[in-house]
Amino acid sequence: MKGGKQKVRIDLKVSVGGVPIDFSVDVPKGPTTPRRMLPVFRSVCGSIVRTAVSQASDSGREVSCRAACAACCRHLVPVSAAESAMLQEIIQDMPADEREIIKQRFSQAIRKLDESGILEQLNFEVAPTGAEYHELAIKYLSLDIACPFLEDEACTIYSERPLVCREYMVVSEPENCLRKNGKPVEAIALPLVASKALFGLEKEANGKDWIALPLALNQAESEPRLSPGTAIATQFFNKLTRSDITKAAR
Ligand code: SF4
Repeated sequence: MKGGKQKVRIDLKVSVGGVPIDFSVDVPKGPTTPRRMLPVFRSVCGSIVRTAVSQASDSGREVSCRAACAACCRHLVPVSAAESAMLQEIIQDMPADEREIIKQRFSQAIRKLDESGILEQLNFEVAPTGAEYHELAIKYLSLDIACPFLEDEACTIYSERPLVCREYMVVSEPENCLRKNGKPVEAIALPLVASKALFGLEKEANGKDWIALPLALNQAESEPRLSPGTAIATQFFNKLTRSDITKAAR
């Protein structure tokens, strides 16, 4: 780690399955919150995704995601508390008429989830995993609820989109993503999953790892937890790599 006055650079090289991934991120030295650290988490996520896409390409599997294909924007999108706070800020900063439209879309999505009985399942104490998560995700997709931020099949918050949205890269036919033709979806398996590391970090702090995106506006704003940026980053990297990077960096 190289020090600066306000930021500290963390350079980290990890090898996953023999493939090296380099991370180089500038993190605030002083007290901050996971919300303010989102650019760092995104940068890490981007490095992982680029490495995985390049590996897939080397083996002849090209990403089939294209502009105006937003099938995945009708999937269940889990977001962390930090991302919920970010989405609330984005909406708060919108002009009043746009804000009203987006809020209406959130309300419509929640109403549809409620009518289908899925809302209750999404208001979990312990986040579903494995087969339980898969079943919930399939039910969610069957409702055809477009993300409130989707317009003309394009993401209106693309540069701020949640980590999960950045991690979903498909190499099968785009139509398969709608799960209506019975053909399988092949997504690129990431060697490290930044969204899960962030969820793990949030779970330790709030007891809840994620919530479904349409519920993000209902998430009560918790007291900002201030910790040194280096401590948050170290915790995040430890969860990401499931190792102790403070020892690895020596
Ligand atoms: S945030 Fe953007 S990319 Fe993610 S589901 Fe919504 S519209 Fe799609």
